[in-house]
Amino acid sequence: MLADYHTHTPLCRHAEGHPREYVRRALELGLAELGISDHAPMEREFDDWRMRREEMPAYLQMLEEARQAYPDFPLRIGLEVDFLPGQEEWISKLAGMARWDYLIGSVHYISEDWDVDNPRWLGSGRWEQQPVEEVWQRYFQRAAEAVRTGLFDFFAHPDLVKKFGHVPAGPLEGHYRPLIEAAAETDTPLEINTAGLRNSAGALYPSRLFLEMAREAGVAILINSDAHRPQDVGAHFTEALAAAKAAGYRETVRFQGRERRTVPLPEAWRC
Ligand code: ZN
Ligand code: FE
Ligand code: FE
Ligand code: ZN
Repeated sequence: MLADYHTHTPLCRHAEGHPREYVRRALELGLAELGISDHAPMEREFDDWRMRREEMPAYLQMLEEARQAYPDFPLRIGLEVDFLPGQEEWISKLAGMARWDYLIGSVHYISEDWDVDNPRWLGSGRWEQQPVEEVWQRYFQRAAEAVRTGLFDFFAHPDLVKKFGHVPAGPLEGHYRPLIEAAAETDTPLEINTAGLRNSAGALYPSRLFLEMAREAGVAILINSDAHRPQDVGAHFTEALAAAKAAGYRETVRFQGRERRTVPLPEAWRC
């Protein structure tokens, strides 16, 4: 069976559905576990797509409500934490705010004010003002840096920077390598994220080549939906499992209380 560890709540202001509805969907699909991992707050007001610091009690309350609605279901709790240089201390503080099962590391920001997956910057001129190679290099350097902090249990949507179709023309190995090396050296799993199949990327995060390189380097993987509404829990897991198998993966990982264990990937999956 598969689990889905990357899902959101309305507190981030761009997702819908109470966590208990996500659990209900996970049960319908026969998922082994479901984890909620909403966008973590920054220490100070930062942008408009994450919970605020003072909303953390409301988040924990919602998770508790879901747990009470399905007391026998293995609901896991976590956060999707944005890495920006200088945030290490705050992230350590976040880690102590609850008995998390895992913290997901993410890079959306390649500078203080540019979240590369945000459609608001399309047509602003930003993407046109510098070579795509440079944007990719900044993204993957920062992703590697995030992984090397050791603050995260796994790393989300590894090649998110491709979301709007900005992909360098030349070989991509050199771009991917810093992140894959960081993951291998710190033994940090990477995520196969199916959200790319539901947005303009039109493909899984990460690409097939990335996944093959990660497999070659001995990096573990998880399959997650990044659902922002209950009906997307487990979405496209058939494709993601096929991609993992094609790259040579036979196992995945689970988390509880930030302890990791390895389990076999299922033979097949339909959803
Ligand atoms: Zn989101
Ligand atoms: Fe994300
Ligand atoms: Fe997410
Ligand atoms: Zn995400």
